[in-house]
Amino acid sequence: MVKTLSLLTISFSILSACSHAPQKVNATFSSPSAMASSKSNSKTSKGMTSIAPNIYVDADMPTGQRKQLLQIVKYSTFEIKKFFGGMKSSPNIYACSTKKCFKKFGGISAEAKTINDDTVLLSYKGLNKTTVTHELAHAELNKRLGKSHWNKTPMWFDEGLAAYICKNPKYAKTVPSMPLSKLTSHNQWVNAVHDKKPVYNVARQAFEGWYKGVGTEGLKDLIARLKKGENLSFDKEINSVNQYSKL
Ligand SMILES: [Zn+2]
Repeated sequence: MVKTLSLLTISFSILSACSHAPQKVNATFSSPSAMASSKSNSKTSKGMTSIAPNIYVDADMPTGQRKQLLQIVKYSTFEIKKFFGGMKSSPNIYACSTKKCFKKFGGISAEAKTINDDTVLLSYKGLNKTTVTHELAHAELNKRLGKSHWNKTPMWFDEGLAAYICKNPKYAKTVPSMPLSKLTSHNQWVNAVHDKKPVYNVARQAFEGWYKGVGTEGLKDLIARLKKGENLSFDKEINSVNQYSKL
């Protein structure tokens, strides 16, 4: 358990300056879900209490907020199902209502983070519909891509999809484009966020322009081709139908 917490600390700290960048870690990673399942018949895990299947909160979270969180997760799950035509992932959600709880997981300023396809960590700032929907979108995309393929997906595509589905008004504004090739890796993304570039908007508008042309079937086709081993270029795919073709 100590090992698990320290890994979580490292992961969350890396993302401290970035609200939503998902983390994809290798198979040796031991997620909080492993912590929870290792304690069979237990309703708690490292001070986090289960309030519904796959949903854990800290002991300080008031009853009203717990109920609200359940409603938010219900709403977000509905949004994910609507977009993808179903939901294949069922990540464990760990929600902190206090700074103290969030610090225990190594969090500083991030709102939330998704690890692989099975874990969503929410800070006290991330207990809202847009953040939860955003994170569940990352988990669902990862689940559909599978471990062998999620690292082949550029950050801008991953974030663009999540930013589009979550309908956060912050990301809705159209901004001057920037080269997507500079937003491919996790480090490139985090650095651009550090530099206060409007990358969530850039990614959202690139994804949206493409998605409006191809729809959910186009997205599923892209995932299927990737999983078949096709060495596809996301930039080219997007540019083939995207109004932001000069990205
Ligand atoms: Zn994100």
